Amino acid sequence: MNALRNFIQAHPRLAVLTGAGVSTSSGIPDYRDEQGEWKRARPVEFRPFMTDPKVRQRYWSRSTVGWPIISRAQPNDAHRALARLEAQGFVQLMITQNVDGLHASAGSRNVIDLHGRLETVRCMECDHALSRADLQRQLLASNPGWAEIEGRVAPDGDVDIEGRDYSEFLVPDCPQCGGILKPDVVFFGETVPRERVDRAFDGVAKADALLVVGSSLMVYSGYRFAEAAAAAGKPIAAINLGRTRADHLLALKISEPCDQALSQLPLSGRSPAGVRQR
Ligand SMILES: [Zn+2]
Repeated sequence: MNALRNFIQAHPRLAVLTGAGVSTSSGIPDYRDEQGEWKRARPVEFRPFMTDPKVRQRYWSRSTVGWPIISRAQPNDAHRALARLEAQGFVQLMITQNVDGLHASAGSRNVIDLHGRLETVRCMECDHALSRADLQRQLLASNPGWAEIEGRVAPDGDVDIEGRDYSEFLVPDCPQCGGILKPDVVFFGETVPRERVDRAFDGVAKADALLVVGSSLMVYSGYRFAEAAAAAGKPIAAINLGRTRADHLLALKISEPCDQALSQLPLSGRSPAGVRQR
């Protein structure tokens, strides 16, 4: 993996953008195939979730099955390698599109969770926050029988359990005001908070280069950072199985599993003195 090592040593202040491909080796399959097409049903969208109680029943029933898988997932070699690169001073900023929290679990410190994290749930009326683990206990207590169901999980905690009747599923309301509870993640059709986007753009602007790991960049909320890096003349490298939307912008493309490509990266020592900015 000399090409990747050379890229990092030539651009020792990296901004890193990660996607679902980083977490597949942790048992969380990604959304898209090698052509960048959906492998499964599209994730839930914001407006239907907010306006249709049936959509919320479907979401929370499937999430009740998916949450144990997400919450048990452990970081893999890719998460650990990126945390190590940060500790060595090569990574200025991590921007992740994942909502599983595994970069933090692996020890990465400077992470922007672009699309939020599944571990928190928020009321859309009064902004009351509660932990997903607490809500899970309530979901299971209100819906006995759903604890035993198994399915194939997706990066957003959704699972495929087609054919299962959820019309009787009881969806908890906000304990403070009775409002609609929603996981503290950015759904499709929802906008990423401006402050978060600005911090990410700022990180890309201060970096020498952008390293994309495990993302097809098919969603604009991630692709725009590749666009910004390219517009600023910063080289972009990508580790991804299959095509990415930014293939035409890449200086280096590595078509390997993320953990495999990154774990072959025994960079010796720290980045050049004085480069580290904290
Ligand atoms: Zn509330």
